[in-house]
Amino acid sequence: MSSYDAVIIGAGASGMVAAIELARGGKKVALIERQNRGGKKILASGNGRCNIANLSLSSKNFHSRNQRLIQELLKNYPLAKIEEFFRNLGLEFISVEDGRLFPKSLSALSVLELLEAWIARLGIDCFYGVEDLTIKKGFYITFAKGRLEAKKLILATGSSAAPQLGGNSSGYEIARNFGHRVIDPLPALVPLTSSAKVCRALAGLKLSVTLRLLVDGVEITSKRGDLLLTKYGVSGLAILDISIAAVQALASGKKCSISIDYFDSMNQKEFLKYLKSRVDRERNLPLRIWIGTILHPKLAKEILLELELFDATESALKSNTLKNLATLLKGYTIPINGYRPMQYAEVALGGVDSKEIDYKTLESKKQKGLYFCGELLDTIGDRGGYNFYFAWATALQVAKSILDT
Ligand SMILES: Cc1cc2nc3c(=O)[nH]c(=O)nc-3n(C[C@H](O)[C@H](O)[C@H](O)COP(=O)(O)OP(=O)(O)OC[C@H]3O[C@@H](n4cnc5c(N)ncnc54)[C@H](O)[C@@H]3O)c2cc1C
Repeated sequence: MSSYDAVIIGAGASGMVAAIELARGGKKVALIERQNRGGKKILASGNGRCNIANLSLSSKNFHSRNQRLIQELLKNYPLAKIEEFFRNLGLEFISVEDGRLFPKSLSALSVLELLEAWIARLGIDCFYGVEDLTIKKGFYITFAKGRLEAKKLILATGSSAAPQLGGNSSGYEIARNFGHRVIDPLPALVPLTSSAKVCRALAGLKLSVTLRLLVDGVEITSKRGDLLLTKYGVSGLAILDISIAAVQALASGKKCSISIDYFDSMNQKEFLKYLKSRVDRERNLPLRIWIGTILHPKLAKEILLELELFDATESALKSNTLKNLATLLKGYTIPINGYRPMQYAEVALGGVDSKEIDYKTLESKKQKGLYFCGELLDTIGDRGGYNFYFAWATALQVAKSILDT
């Protein structure tokens, strides 16, 4: 049996950072990973570029049952500390639109390889392909190729999102065995489903719009960005952004819809005025051609079909018809009836109840010496680097808590 100061389960974003920080602090560390290589979500992140954090960090960007934990984390780990950790390893950064921070290489592979290089350099014992783990209080960790004893145990197994990249629920099970409550995970940062005909009819069409999420008819949040119509419903960055609120609402049995504003640079009054100014009864174009010059022609046709104006021409435009058209173009509603499964989710809502861990040290309140970091906890961030921030910051906090004891 080999003895360690700390054993970390899960060699993903948070597990690797915790291992490096502890080993740099002089601790003997082992890292146990289920897959043949850790960090697969890092590799797939940010379209292969790894959106590592965000220049603007606020508690509003996180969704947690334990806001005190978020506030403590933001206080102790401002962005400068995360940057300092990675700069010390040798990483450089570049920030792009919306304050999103990337490695200067714009390559997720460079981040993973850097972390792996440090893990090797620091002599951290790594065990890959471990699927038969049993953990007993003490802590005694047993699997086919090893029997380890650890003073501290860190659970960094991530969430069940994206199973194709290693997401699974074994971490929840380990936490349960230590007496922890797990809030049922739900997919988040995920496309939404709809049975609206327009989605199927125009599948593949991508538009730049402002989206409003309506829950039981009331606007909850709005986002500007890409909307992609698909066979199953809606996707695109703006949809992922509103998906956290949509999934929460749908899971609690509420009715959801999205209202799409195709002309968000003008308010309703200005838009109506603009439409009126474009009417030319002499020219008398078919409406589908006329609207098709300011909106994607395929969408223009669908909207005119809905208004039963498909065959009408400009001369048919009465003031109430124009008003109806303006209303629909600035608030086209699509009912949402669900969300795509975990396979399509970037993160999972839910996880280990963060109220059952000490908000300062991230140590379990149920089991001394047991720590949690990363997405295994019931906390997620918005799209834009907030989930990696949470993984890095919780890992550094766990390492500090252990180094301080
Ligand atoms: C496609 C995609 C793109 C993303 N892009 C971004 C982005 O650009 N920016 C951002 O901030 N976030 C992004 N995320 C989210 C981000 O990847 C996660 O929030 C982050 O990786 C969570 O870190 P973690 O350490 O908690 O878990 P993970 O990184 O998932 O690591 C957990 C590790 O534990 C291992 N494991 C699980 N169970 C066991 C077990 N029983 N025994 C041993 N090992 C186990 C897993 O195999 C995995 O290697 C993206 C996610 C996906 C799926």
